[in-house]
Amino acid sequence: MPGIFIDVEVAADARSDATLAAKLEEVCPVDIFAATESGVEIVEQNLDECVLCRLCLDAAPPGAVRVIKLYDGTEL
Ligand code: SF4
Repeated sequence: MPGIFIDVEVAADARSDATLAAKLEEVCPVDIFAATESGVEIVEQNLDECVLCRLCLDAAPPGAVRVIKLYDGTEL
């Protein structure tokens, strides 16, 4: 089930990056990213656990990850 409060998007060209996938899986404290054989996957059932810590944004190239606050229409 997708998040009600938070959505997280990974840009299409970054999704298959195995190094980025491993980094994102490591940094997110609430396991929103999973590193799989095909790259980064979003663990939808954890989306609303996001604590807005920005660690995923810091770990990714600019623009590769977006954390969207569905409740006010802004993003980190
Ligand atoms: S902002 Fe923090 S909690 Fe939210 S997805 Fe990124 S790393 Fe995970």
